[in-house]
Amino acid sequence: MIKRRQSKELNLGGVRLGGDAPVIVQSMTSTDTRNVEATVGQIKALEGAGCEIVRVAVIDEQAVASIGEICRRISIPLIADIHFDYRLALKVLEQGVSGIRINPGNIGRYHIKEIVNAAKERDVVIRLGINAGSLEREILKKHGGKPTSTALVESALRNIELFENIGFTNFKLSLKSSDVLTTIEAYREIAKRCPYPLHLGVTEAGTIINATIKSALGIGILLLEGIGDTIRVSIAGDPISEVRVAYGILRALGIRYVGPDIIACPTCGRTEINVVKIAEELERRLARMKKYIKIAIMGCVVNGPGEARDADIGLAGGRGFGYLFRKGERIRKIKETEFIDGLMEEIKKITEDS
Ligand code: SF4
Repeated sequence: MIKRRQSKELNLGGVRLGGDAPVIVQSMTSTDTRNVEATVGQIKALEGAGCEIVRVAVIDEQAVASIGEICRRISIPLIADIHFDYRLALKVLEQGVSGIRINPGNIGRYHIKEIVNAAKERDVVIRLGINAGSLEREILKKHGGKPTSTALVESALRNIELFENIGFTNFKLSLKSSDVLTTIEAYREIAKRCPYPLHLGVTEAGTIINATIKSALGIGILLLEGIGDTIRVSIAGDPISEVRVAYGILRALGIRYVGPDIIACPTCGRTEINVVKIAEELERRLARMKKYIKIAIMGCVVNGPGEARDADIGLAGGRGFGYLFRKGERIRKIKETEFIDGLMEEIKKITEDS
């Protein structure tokens, strides 16, 4: 049983974050924010996949001008991501965003104060995004030019103090590095030293395989220790995958049960059916399903049913046929041509019943 760190609860555009709220799944669009249609389209797809908060990059005035319309057309809270130009942060706050993410390393203390004051007036949440790639110059110098976990924590504490001195506590923190161990150490330390909610992520994690490994370890280890209130899996690729991997991590740790958990045997010399093709087709058909269900696709009738005893629905393949089973109990025999339809029918029955 995981004992969660007790953090301060925030309300980010109607989504509870921190405190005893569930660990929230976020993602970030990869479209050009100035292109409203493309960005709204991608956000809708992310919403469909279960994304609960979305972040978009705001790179110039034209992007700021798109934000109001994007916010009106989507159903989840939007966070504007600002780098370097504090004026963009001030302007975007007038566009109805629920949060902004700033990186103190590239904005500067004086301008941060202005942003914090403006966010305070509008009750907008700030993410204080400490990033190993852009630490304040003096902090980096003090730590021998290396963005160590101690350097990340020092930057975080310094900015927390600045925020608190302004009387602003409506914020969460991230301390990201592309190095998994540095990330874990930094979050562990900051978790002990402040009450604010933590946004977990391993930055620049790579394409899907590397990013999934690094995120499952970096985010997963911290979640297992009760640290973390919201997560973003960074993947160089389709952001929908970020949401799927995020829920996969949460399901694997028993933190949140959202979406289908499709398990498949690794296949071996006994395999009688195309396990991979069936599992991938189910993944495609169930991509928008939010209800939790465990589905097992097993390659043979010898070991399959036993190995997937705790699945809700399963298929164990024979030559040209297969057995459908429910909670390990065989329910019927179906032809190979009916595998997908048969599985979908049983999945529908079970999800409608629950
Ligand atoms: Fe091999 Fe059957 Fe196990 Fe799949 S379930 S790995 S086919 S023994």
